[in-house]
Amino acid sequence: MASSIRIALQKSGRLSEDSYQLFKACGIRFDYGTGKLKSVSSNFPAEFLFLRDDDIPGYVEDGVADLGIVGENVAVETGRQVTTVHKLGFSKCRLSIAIPRGDAYNGIGDLQGKNIATSYPNLLGNYLAGEGVQAHIHEISGSVEIAPSIGLAEAVCDIVSSGSTLMSNGLKEVETIFRSEAVMIAHASLSAEKQALLDQLLFRINAVQAAKN
Ligand code: ATP
Ligand code: ZN
Repeated sequence: MASSIRIALQKSGRLSEDSYQLFKACGIRFDYGTGKLKSVSSNFPAEFLFLRDDDIPGYVEDGVADLGIVGENVAVETGRQVTTVHKLGFSKCRLSIAIPRGDAYNGIGDLQGKNIATSYPNLLGNYLAGEGVQAHIHEISGSVEIAPSIGLAEAVCDIVSSGSTLMSNGLKEVETIFRSEAVMIAHASLSAEKQALLDQLLFRINAVQAAKN
């Protein structure tokens, strides 16, 4: 039976365009941005699924998708059993703790007993545990950076790239807890046919990356 590989990409967001451009640079054509949830490549045995990024590690763990592209932040936060097969070099960002600009900060110990709002409770919890700091983690799914100004938390832990969002919300970055970039993740046990397709794909990705450097 002819095999095909199923690849999950973010439907619409900060990973989408670069993910699409990567496959395009690899010479793999498929319809993208049409609003459809699925697209079959016309020149490579691959089918693409367009999903929310948070759902991608779960689909790859379950084998509904064979491969996916997500930020390492999401891959690690979800704790799903998937294999990271390649770093892709785009969507670079960091997960940082920030506090109101006017607050004093002398080190991580200042967060002891504080309320910290985040969409990354596992990454933050592990970091604080490693530092021996006990804080209250408030999990919220979005608009984390407004939490201090509305009295929900004394600090936030959120994704930062330039820092301008923090700045415009009156916050300053005090600790970087995780550095992230887009990665390709794979199902833990691919069939030999799918592994061969992944190897072909990685060969092309390496060539594209080498040509860029
Ligand atoms: P979805 O609707 O798919 O759930 P989202 O709002 O959770 O999307 P995006 O904001 O599109 O996610 O971010 C996707 C990923 O891109 C993040 O998990 C992170 O790895 C990376 N990212 C987030 N913010 C930035 C940024 N400012 N610069 C670069 N990369 C970023
Ligand atoms: Zn998301």
